[in-house]
Amino acid sequence: MLDPSSSPSANLVAAFAMSAAPQSIIDTRRHQMFPVLESADIERVRRFGKVRFYRAGEALVQVGNVGPGLTIILTGRVDITQHDESGHRRHIVTHGPGSFMGELAQLAGRPALVDAHAQDEVEALVIPPERLRALLIGEAELGERVMRALILRRMGLLETGAGGPVIVGRPQNGDVLRLEGFLRRNAHPYQRLNPETDADAKALIERFHVDTGQLPIVLCPGGQLLRNPTEPELARCIGLLGPIDPNRLYDVIVVGAGPAGLAAAVYAGSEGLSVLVLDCRAFGGQAGASARIENYLGFPTGISGMALMARAYNQAQKFGVEMGIPDEVTGLDRLDGAESGPFVLKLSNSERAKARSIVIATGARYRRLAVDGLEAFEGSSVHYWASPLEAKLCSGQEVALVGAGNSAGQAAVYLASHVAKVWLLVRGQELAASMSRYLVDRIAGLTNVEVLTQTKVTGLEGRDGVLEAIRWRQGSGEEVSRPIQHLFLFIGADPNTDWLSGSGVALDAKGFVLTGGDCNEPRNPLETSRRGIFAIGDVRSGSVKRVAAAVGEGAQVVATLHATLASMESKIKGEPAAQRG
Ligand SMILES: Cc1cc2nc3c(=O)[nH]c(=O)nc-3n(C[C@H](O)[C@H](O)[C@H](O)COP(=O)(O)OP(=O)(O)OC[C@H]3O[C@@H](n4cnc5c(N)ncnc54)[C@H](O)[C@@H]3O)c2cc1C
Repeated sequence: MLDPSSSPSANLVAAFAMSAAPQSIIDTRRHQMFPVLESADIERVRRFGKVRFYRAGEALVQVGNVGPGLTIILTGRVDITQHDESGHRRHIVTHGPGSFMGELAQLAGRPALVDAHAQDEVEALVIPPERLRALLIGEAELGERVMRALILRRMGLLETGAGGPVIVGRPQNGDVLRLEGFLRRNAHPYQRLNPETDADAKALIERFHVDTGQLPIVLCPGGQLLRNPTEPELARCIGLLGPIDPNRLYDVIVVGAGPAGLAAAVYAGSEGLSVLVLDCRAFGGQAGASARIENYLGFPTGISGMALMARAYNQAQKFGVEMGIPDEVTGLDRLDGAESGPFVLKLSNSERAKARSIVIATGARYRRLAVDGLEAFEGSSVHYWASPLEAKLCSGQEVALVGAGNSAGQAAVYLASHVAKVWLLVRGQELAASMSRYLVDRIAGLTNVEVLTQTKVTGLEGRDGVLEAIRWRQGSGEEVSRPIQHLFLFIGADPNTDWLSGSGVALDAKGFVLTGGDCNEPRNPLETSRRGIFAIGDVRSGSVKRVAAAVGEGAQVVATLHATLASMESKIKGEPAAQRG
């Protein structure tokens, strides 16, 4: 059961993972999902919207199209429906006077995931996305009820997957897993059809004349067909990602949507700065990969990294932060190469984004194991995350996990409850040297986790991208080969700073960004060797590699940012910089 005491976004991922549970979220939390506003509430929020009229049968919004915003029904009734992968229409709810239409897509003006049709003549108060954000901030109590309903509705859509894209391909296919992982990490509903077992998949393949070698295909809600798309292609098709306005000058662009970047975005957005966040993969960063974070302040029972990050992502959007995900930043320069003035970020798709200040929050990327043929198995058999997706894939099987840090420990504990056995392969002499005591103890209590210390993976065997056996050697003993199809790697990370090459931002010997007193010239705390550019979180030289530290730096950097932006403005006006309290 979903925990009703926990906040909606905390349950967002859990709800998805439990899609097979007999009781849906619509059954368990209907009253919070579909609240009815009192007339006094409606009068208070009239100032945020405009009244519109719809004829009986008229579509208020259609799947795949951007709707006009949050719609409060004043008179009449509206049917909300969705269709599944076979085109069957399913009724979700009928909104009457006082109830409102909308879900998380309305916060950022993204395409709708459901259809809405007027049952009879309808009069409605329509609140566009930017005014909805103003309502959520300006009307705290009502805003909380609305926000909770929007999040719960997204959870409901995640449960069924309907309204999102349909992926047609074999479940074990590396590209299917890649696309599923992307949608899942971005909390976007989707459905998958297996062409080997599903008649609807076969029908789609025939209808679009697709050769089975071209699978997977993706059918977007707007009707477009994509053949084995990249993540940005898919994101554009489903309206997750739009073009960046090349003429817009943001106060700050945050590169990286991990805990550090999202914290900076929330604090900067809440203080009225214009903020764009760019991330090449998904929101949440490494923290999003954590099955359970137990040492983050305020969550005594622990929280999944994805649930924590989903809260932050929604919170940032509430404060008007714009998101470009997945958008990869490949370079950083001054506008037109000038000595001073705004910065320009170059994106891998040739777009440009401009800002008066930059926050580098690109964290770190996982190290790969130095073993022959690794690439051939990445995507389908070698994993760098242990999320419900991977757990389902390995369910009931034996897996091997390499690593001895806390992330490896968490993954081992999580996987142990889904798989037959976890072989935890550790290079060092003991786990306790690098893993927190609570995890070492927990692992010791798990009968299906076997820890092999002083052990190295020596070979991988398999074909067609599917791993069939792993070889390893413990100390100077015999090489062992075990029939294992899934290998998890949690062996540390290197800083994501390649994109800073040639930018003039100084790095330490290991490639982490130098800030404050570590730079050669006097700099503000968290400021890099280039004025107006800041670095926070794991990417910063000397930072504590923890979620709480990343979040703290995200909050701290905003104060320094203000000072920098104020001094830039004063220079333009020729005045002394104002102090901010
Ligand atoms: C499995 C796992 C479990 C963990 N568990 C815990 C725990 O229990 N407690 C704890 O305190 N810490 C834990 N950590 C560590 C913690 O997650 C990190 O310290 C934290 O996520 C660092 O945050 P960050 O925002 O600095 O960087 P990251 O989380 O690394 O985020 C950086 C983001 O930048 C993006 N990016 C990188 N390059 C580019 C580019 N060129 N353009 C655009 N975007 C880019 C990435 O896609 C990523 O989303 C765990 C880490 C892992 C991997």
